[in-house]
Amino acid sequence: MYEYIGSLHIHSRFSDGSASIPEIAYEAEKAGMDFICITDHQTLEGKEQGLDGWYGKTLVIIGAELNRKRNHYLAFNLKELVEDTSDNPQQTISQVKNQGGIGFLAHPCEKGSPLIMQGQSFPWTDWQVEGFDGIELWNFCSQWREQACSRLKLFYWYFFNRSAPLSSGAPEELLQKWDEWTQKRRISAIGGTDAHAFPLQYGPLRGIFLPYPYLFRTINTHILLSQKMQAESALAQAQVLKALQKGSAFIANNAVSPAQGFVFSAFNRNREVGMGEEINHDSALSLKISSPNPRSRIRIIKNGKLVYTTNKSSLIFKVLKPGVFRVEVYYRPRVGRPRPWIYSNPIYVR
Ligand SMILES: [Zn+2]
Ligand SMILES: [Zn+2]
Repeated sequence: MYEYIGSLHIHSRFSDGSASIPEIAYEAEKAGMDFICITDHQTLEGKEQGLDGWYGKTLVIIGAELNRKRNHYLAFNLKELVEDTSDNPQQTISQVKNQGGIGFLAHPCEKGSPLIMQGQSFPWTDWQVEGFDGIELWNFCSQWREQACSRLKLFYWYFFNRSAPLSSGAPEELLQKWDEWTQKRRISAIGGTDAHAFPLQYGPLRGIFLPYPYLFRTINTHILLSQKMQAESALAQAQVLKALQKGSAFIANNAVSPAQGFVFSAFNRNREVGMGEEINHDSALSLKISSPNPRSRIRIIKNGKLVYTTNKSSLIFKVLKPGVFRVEVYYRPRVGRPRPWIYSNPIYVR
C-alpha cells in the first residue's frame, strides 16, 4: 500500500481564508503535504479558474463547503455549485449525490465559544439524513474554539501550547453517533483543519491566527492507495477522493507525533483487507495493528464498545465474532496524560 498525507478543509481568499490557492499550495508543499482539499464557502471559483492540480509534489483538490447558516457539508466532484439549503440538509446531500459528487458532514458537533465570532457555531442539526458518504470526525479550528472558555486560556494556548485544546480528541458525542451509523452502513471519517488563517490585530500587534503552515502539521487525513498516485491530475484526484469516500484512511494529529506507517488491517488464510473494507468472518480472522511510536496506547473498539486496550505498539487480535472494528491510538508522553492521536476508519467483519 502507498500512504499519502493530506490536509483537508481549507479556506482560501475565494471565501474567508487569507491566502490565494497557489500561496496555500506552496506552503502545503513545504510542509510535506501530498494533497490538500480546498473547500471555500458556497463557491467553486477556484476550480472554475483551473487552480486545482499539481503544485510541485502537492496535489490540490477543490471542492466546496456548502450551506452557510448551519449544516455545513464538504462536497467534492461537483459539476456545478449546489444552492445553499442550510435548513434542508437532506436536499444538500441529495443534490451533491445526484451530480455524482461525494460529501462529508462538516464539524457536525460544533459548539463555538462566546469569546470568538460572537459565539457563533455551525453544527449539523438533522441526524436523520441519508446518503452522505462520511463525516469530518476531528476538526482542528472547531475544537480550538470550543475549548476557549477564557481570554487568559486563549492567550496562553495561542503563544505557549497551541495544541492543548486538541487533547480532548474527536468529540465523544460524534464518535458515538458514527459507531451507531457504521453498524447499519459504511460511513467514512476524515479529519480537517478548517484553516482560515485570519489576520489579527490587537492594538499595535499584528499577526495571523492559526496560520496555514502551522495547521498543515496538525490534523491530517492519511490515505492508503493500492497504486501510486497518478501523474495526471484528474486521475490522481479521483484516486484520493475514492479513498476518502471509501474510508481507506486514518486521521492523525501529527502535532502529537508523526503518524506515518500506522497499520490497521484484517486477515485470514486467504486475504488481507484494510480500513474501509469488508471481510467475512472465519476461525482464522485476526486484526493486525501497528503504531509507528512505541509510546502508544492502542484501543480496539467493536460496535461502539471498547473491547481491548494495550500499551504495546503492535499486536495481532483474534476476532471471535463479526462486528465493526475501529482503532484509536493515544500517545503516552513521559509526563502527563495520554493524548488522542490516531483514529482509524472501521473494518467491517461480516
Ligand atoms: Zn464550516
Ligand atoms: Zn470551514
